[in-house]
Amino acid sequence: MAIYDPKSRKAEEFISDSEIRETLAWAEANKNNAELIDEILEKTRPRKTADGTVCAGLTHREASLLLACEMPDKIQKIYEIAEEIKLAFYGNRIVIFAPLYLSNYCVNGCVYCPYHLKNKCIPRKKLTQEEVRKEVIALQDMGHKRLAIEAGEDPVNNPIEYILECINTIYSVHHKNGDIRRVNVNIAATTVENYRKLKDAGIGTYILFQETYHKESYLQLHPTGPKHDYDYHTEAMDRAMDGGIDDVGLGVLFGLELYKYEFAGLIMHAEHLEAVHGVGPHTISVPRLKRADDINPDDFDNGIDDDTFAKITACIRLAVPYTGIIISTRETESVRGRLLNCGVSQVSGGSRTSVGGYAEEERPHDTEQFDVSDQRSLDEVVRWLMENGHIPSFCTACYREGRTGDRFMSLCKSGQILNCCHPNALMTLTEYLVDYASDATKEVGFRMVEEELNRIPKEKVRDIAKQNIKDIMNSNRRDFRF
Ligand code: SAM
Repeated sequence: MAIYDPKSRKAEEFISDSEIRETLAWAEANKNNAELIDEILEKTRPRKTADGTVCAGLTHREASLLLACEMPDKIQKIYEIAEEIKLAFYGNRIVIFAPLYLSNYCVNGCVYCPYHLKNKCIPRKKLTQEEVRKEVIALQDMGHKRLAIEAGEDPVNNPIEYILECINTIYSVHHKNGDIRRVNVNIAATTVENYRKLKDAGIGTYILFQETYHKESYLQLHPTGPKHDYDYHTEAMDRAMDGGIDDVGLGVLFGLELYKYEFAGLIMHAEHLEAVHGVGPHTISVPRLKRADDINPDDFDNGIDDDTFAKITACIRLAVPYTGIIISTRETESVRGRLLNCGVSQVSGGSRTSVGGYAEEERPHDTEQFDVSDQRSLDEVVRWLMENGHIPSFCTACYREGRTGDRFMSLCKSGQILNCCHPNALMTLTEYLVDYASDATKEVGFRMVEEELNRIPKEKVRDIAKQNIKDIMNSNRRDFRF
């Protein structure tokens, strides 16, 4: 039996099955221990220190105990603290992005994904560079600045050279006042050498969902193809970091395995990255299994209801306070609205999950990876966020100013976000309002920008931000940042 060791580079040792089982048993045995739960909750609250605001975070055991707890008053506290942490480190900003599907060719056999090799009904498509350009223009015309590129795993059709070429094309397109300033990448686990190439191509976050941390289930859910190799997949983030990528994004696909097991595995993975590389995950995504071409979520036994989903999200917020939490358009408007108050810091908007979908007027369904539940336009999502008190941010400054990995975490802790991220959000929101927004969105947006500018503490920063916003409104000058 593998011995649990967060510092180990071996998947079976840093995601130890026996440690997860012991954790779940301990959490179950203590789930009514109000005193212990209060103690843990108290520990999670953000505290002001001489060096800024800090938050302790939680071990996988502590976090699992909160997730197991069923006492309504304690659960309410979890939600309150999740919101408190979100506001302390991310303010009321919500970062906006869109996925861009490059290719649905795939050699894997993932039983939950319609891209699996045996699916002969789904039309296979891979964008040419000209098509990538068209997609990017359509995305820029919506107002997007940040993308997550997605592709199936196929060394012949989608080799790393193809992905690199696409990244290059994406960054090269400047349509009207538009540009894509950060490309995050969600492609299959690969080698250190390939991660280095992605780093050199200027990617933001490397995202890879674990799907499930339960090895036995993982092997059954990925019966064929390179993704079958659990260890190689689970150790991918270490190779990405060895290849120089500072920002990595974790996630499990909720619905495949028992959520408490997945949650403990996820937090252990974060602890492992911190222990080995000195920095935890930049983001954690919380996707739930959805209906798709030949996939019926009801065929899987471990679906979770909305309350459990919200509780998981809030517990992640408490466990890893400096990590961004991402919610996609897999979820409906109402679920997304609820999760925004549980610690989520990034949402996608106006998404199409089909290959080449953005350049089409009508939403195409034939090559979709999964059904999109929130089908609103980006403009509608942006207005909705503002009407609910969130500032939609198109900012990409941190990574372009070299504030990645632990340098981003330091900014988070320093309390300087109101003098840095906040004005950046307002300036990029103004770009969006001037260049792309509908009149109704402009009305809500300009009012918000004016009010929020007054919250910038440093007078000098406030004055510069105001001047830059004037310039954006009165000229074609763009891309100001702190
Ligand atoms: N192919 C890449 C890999 O092997 O990691 C990742 C790209 S895939 C387009 C992105 C993610 O979509 C997968 O990691 C999986 O978690 C998720 N996904 C697949 N099928 C899904 C479904 N039916 N519903 C919701 N999400 C799904």
